[in-house]
Amino acid sequence: MSVFISGANGFIAQHIVDLLLKEDYKVIGSARSQEKADDLMKAFGNNPNLSMEIVPDISKLDAFDSVFQKYGKDIKIVLHTASPFCFDIADYERDLLIPALNGVKGILNSIKKYAADSVERVVLTSSFAAMFDISKESDKSVTFNEESWNPATWESCQIDAVNAYCGSKKFAEEAAWKFLEENRNAVKFQLTAINPVYVFGPQTFEKDVKRHLNTSCEFVNNLIHLSPEDKIPEFYGGYIDVRDVAKAHLVAFQKNETIGQRLIISEARCTMQDIVDVLNDGFPVLKGKIPVGKPKTGATHNTLGATLDNTKSKKLLGFKFRNLKETIDDTASQILKSEGKL
Ligand code: NDP
Repeated sequence: MSVFISGANGFIAQHIVDLLLKEDYKVIGSARSQEKADDLMKAFGNNPNLSMEIVPDISKLDAFDSVFQKYGKDIKIVLHTASPFCFDIADYERDLLIPALNGVKGILNSIKKYAADSVERVVLTSSFAAMFDISKESDKSVTFNEESWNPATWESCQIDAVNAYCGSKKFAEEAAWKFLEENRNAVKFQLTAINPVYVFGPQTFEKDVKRHLNTSCEFVNNLIHLSPEDKIPEFYGGYIDVRDVAKAHLVAFQKNETIGQRLIISEARCTMQDIVDVLNDGFPVLKGKIPVGKPKTGATHNTLGATLDNTKSKKLLGFKFRNLKETIDDTASQILKSEGKL
């Protein structure tokens, strides 16, 4: 019995693979190129329980056919994490919306064609972006929870990359629930969506700490490299540690209570000021090198906008998430060590 994970070389996915291997699962991962697949195999010490397949572009609806044709009967669990998460793009449809949507449609159809009787659980890495309404983020009277859906339409989300990304996650998750509704008798699997807020935390392997990091960790990386006179970027959102997001993916398929659920993975809300406070408090090497701003005025000290209520998700998952200090300390110390500053 194997677990298939798409986009296995991604920031979050590498932590998931790490946990799966530690729990002795047989893992089949996909990456876009042989080079990326080989790198990942090497990083995991060529663990015999890990094997890799190449899926060059999830925009193609038959992208996963060959994987499920080859391994379908052996795969019991599918974790679909692959989806573009980047704001530096040229074409919203080609680079975000279509790969996200077709990725979900494609993998579920491949399961239907080649593994309808063997795949029992599918965990989709969706996002809180599929749930919240950007225009209501600063409205203190609004609460988002597991029932919430981003109201974006295909047309309305194409104003900038952030809106397009949020739309891409909404359309992809919506397509997954719709597929299940329409194919209830044609497939065996049960579905769970994982909806994380902004994910920070260390890279699984230090070799991946580069000058530019994956989109979410780049927020922290950017703060570490500001000058004292720079303005602290505007940001209000939820935060969660990547190690907790990874664990949530495992719990999501290991428990029956999570079947059919959308799980919001968020510890609490924060602003960049909160992260700057943690950096200034925890790292003497950054004193006087990064801005100070107005300490203790961030979202961890005050209600600055809409509330995120994920009480239900936390209860279903049943484990405690890391706090902002631990997450940022571990993110920053890995970066600073790689630069020889710690
Ligand atoms: P990464 O960019 O590190 O990982 C994304 C993965 O998807 C990579 O393996 C990437 O391949 C693959 N991918 C992207 N586009 C394609 C494509 N067209 N064809 C094939 N593979 C593709 O991001 P994260 O680990 O941060 O994100 C993983 C998932 O989590 C995504 O679904 C994202 O939307 C979701 N998420 C992330 C959050 C965060 O804050 N990080 C918050 C909420 C949800 P390659 O490396 O070759 O580009």
